[in-house]
Amino acid sequence: MSARIRARNPLVELDGDEMTRIIWALVKERLVEPFVDITLERYDLFLPVRDQTDDAVTVQAAAAIQKHGVGVKCATITPDAMRVKEYNLKKAWPSPNGTIRAILDGTVFRQPIIVKNVPPMVRSWQKPITIGRHAYGDIYKNVEMKVPAPGTVSLVYQPAGGGAPQTLVIHDFKGPGVVMGMHNLESSIRSFAKACIAYALSEKLPLWFGAKDTISKTYHAMFKDVFRAEVEARKADLDKAGVTYNYMLIDDAVARVVRHEGGFLWACMNYDGDVMSDMVASGFGSLGLMTSVLVSPDGKFEYEAAHGTVQRHYYAHQKGEPTSTNSTATIFAWTGALAKRGELDGTPELTAFAKAIEVSVIETIEGGIMTKDLAGIATPKPAGHATTEGFIDAIAERLRSKVEAGVR
Ligand code: NAP
Ligand code: MG
Repeated sequence: MSARIRARNPLVELDGDEMTRIIWALVKERLVEPFVDITLERYDLFLPVRDQTDDAVTVQAAAAIQKHGVGVKCATITPDAMRVKEYNLKKAWPSPNGTIRAILDGTVFRQPIIVKNVPPMVRSWQKPITIGRHAYGDIYKNVEMKVPAPGTVSLVYQPAGGGAPQTLVIHDFKGPGVVMGMHNLESSIRSFAKACIAYALSEKLPLWFGAKDTISKTYHAMFKDVFRAEVEARKADLDKAGVTYNYMLIDDAVARVVRHEGGFLWACMNYDGDVMSDMVASGFGSLGLMTSVLVSPDGKFEYEAAHGTVQRHYYAHQKGEPTSTNSTATIFAWTGALAKRGELDGTPELTAFAKAIEVSVIETIEGGIMTKDLAGIATPKPAGHATTEGFIDAIAERLRSKVEAGVR
């Protein structure tokens, strides 16, 4: 067998939980380590380790991504009360993704993987639709209150240095009701716009952004204006790369998305991104085919699968039952990270090898070997489905023959 491909710089590896932790080890052992000579700086985000370290391991992992520029992350449990009991935790540690996103000031991009025998539910979709979701503020950092009886609710801004407050009446209630206050930061909106532009340039994708500035003439308008200013600032790069920018009203964007063939980046405000990424994910077939990458405004990348730890499958696995968990998105997290490492380091052979893994995955599925989630929706229907490990082994076999034939 030919020599392993050498990477110039380390890749930050973030291990995780449950079924995806099982898959993680298999992917690394069968698809990466035999072929690539790379230093993996490993942080174990396994829930018991986060608990032992008071979650310091998550913060260290984020710092390592900042230092080395590229990370690959396994899905992790975000503990709730049930998990605190199950793992006997000191407390319900926060979501690692939330922690890392905050440290990197990053934007999350989700992109589906397209295979010919799993047709999208939406007939017009032929190319991936990537969603970039702003990950700060709006209703996710809101305050809300029930209004019990008649009375006035106002917005009050008190300048930090003293001075006259500004007051706006929200509503003069004649009876019970409800109110909500939410905010965003100009700096965060700017980072979001920058990250979307960086991603659109890196992937050479047309950039769409939708908001509702006709109704929200100040709040949504700030998003529109900041986005426009950042696009203007990068106009030369965008023109050179042939990347277009298109602002439209969010309802117009939604209507166009379902009629479009795909192949663009859709930048979404926080709530729109939450809702629309689930719509796009299920429209393209399976969570097992959805990848996710966190991009910081200064160009650091963290790749992962969009799905969680697939808990139900893990419990079956623990009982010794055979499982059929789709590892495609996890494999594409690894290939995305390896390809980016190669791109940043100027080692095109590493990037080409990552693409060879991706082609091996797609050929395996299109050749009729797939996990249960896909077998149920594929056309034509395959005779059966592969086990978790069997699927990875089939990919490894295909990859090995490519490598032996010198196709890299
Ligand atoms: P999930 O792990 O995404 O799984 C939900 C269901 O989707 C599964 O039970 C399975 O359906 C299907 N599914 C998801 N990924 C699949 C795959 N690769 N192959 C085949 N089927 C797949 O969500 P969850 O069970 O609600 O959450 C489990 C844990 O993951 C939670 O503790 C949550 O905190 C965590 N989570 C982590 C991340 C992350 O780290 N990025 C994201 C989301 C959730 P069937 O059972 O019908 O087969
Ligand atoms: Mg959602």
